Amino acid sequence: MTSVNAAFPASPPRAWAEIDLGALKKNLAVAREAFPGALMAVVKAGAYGHGLEEIARTLAGEDIVFFGVANVGEARRIRNAGVYTPIYLLGATWAEERAEIVANDWTPCISSIAEAEQFNRLAAAQGKRLKVHLAVDTGMGRGGFVADDLVNALRHLESLENLELEGIGSHLPSADEDEAFTKSQFARFRSIIDELGGPARFKWIHLSNSAGLLGYDQGVCNLTRPGLMLYGVSPLPGFQEKLSTVMTLKSRVTLLRTLPAGHGISYGRQFVTTQPTRVATVGIGYGDGYPRHVSGNGAAVWLRGRRFPILGRVTMDQLMVDVTGAVDVMEGDEVEIFGPNIPVAEIAEKAGTIVWEIFTCITPRVLRCYV
Ligand SMILES: *Cc1c(COP(=O)(O)O)cnc(C)c1O
Repeated sequence: MTSVNAAFPASPPRAWAEIDLGALKKNLAVAREAFPGALMAVVKAGAYGHGLEEIARTLAGEDIVFFGVANVGEARRIRNAGVYTPIYLLGATWAEERAEIVANDWTPCISSIAEAEQFNRLAAAQGKRLKVHLAVDTGMGRGGFVADDLVNALRHLESLENLELEGIGSHLPSADEDEAFTKSQFARFRSIIDELGGPARFKWIHLSNSAGLLGYDQGVCNLTRPGLMLYGVSPLPGFQEKLSTVMTLKSRVTLLRTLPAGHGISYGRQFVTTQPTRVATVGIGYGDGYPRHVSGNGAAVWLRGRRFPILGRVTMDQLMVDVTGAVDVMEGDEVEIFGPNIPVAEIAEKAGTIVWEIFTCITPRVLRCYV
């Protein structure tokens, strides 16, 4: 079928994300330096908005023990990308998903006896032994068995002939906020493992996300599950300098005008000029995932080697920037929305949220370009 635009070259995107796959590998090396054991690369939510297939293909040759995903849709996309690294499902699964999980030998974590029994039946029906991990709730409150139920749970799991208990894992809710609690969690996880028969009973023992990996001794754990740090952002202060920026979000100046004093800018007229103001309109907005909540909080963009403040509210497809006095700024200029010069952490802070959310909210309209 001929497109309506067949007579015209494709128009360039208004906003795009440049993704540096070399930086991703450098960050992986930083993770390995912090903990030389095995590594599960967490690639849920489209590899934190970086593009699941490309990130999985890039990391596939890097001796990753598992890819950590949120659901079977993500697991399928990794396989369809031609990547055969084992896949670990980080959260509870739907009953309807489990036959597919068994058929593909994806690894679920088990939080209830009912789940375990269904996996066991499905594995028996398919003539297999499915590898599973025992999930332990040491404080996250999101999944896993609580400590009191564990001895019985383990005994029950080990009676299920078509399951192979390959690992045990738990999760840290506040490794970037509460060191004392996190240390006690490591200690509690250790004593739980001892109570269950000791570390030798499990091939894989894992607790740490990025903050746990960077900030703590792994103790009895032999596997970590970093996500955010692979994408170049440290959840803990003091490690950011070691990491390299992976995603640079960019757009362009679409329009330049000088507005007179007393002129409102954007919805709600929250900003009104007090002097003649040269305003650059930039082709990105919250419809691309740039957070509208930065409006009025002093967020800036990077243009021609300098920072320029955003004026008024971010709109769906466009935002306005004060370029008064910057005579070199021109229509068509490339603008860094965040990246090496405007840290994504700064945007998250000004939006009152976290970097994980900023990354995962970048919408499909933003073209991902890989370098
Ligand atoms: C998302 C997630 C991670 C990765 O966390 P980061 O803070 O991004 O490193 C690790 N483990 C589990 C269970 C997760 O859900």
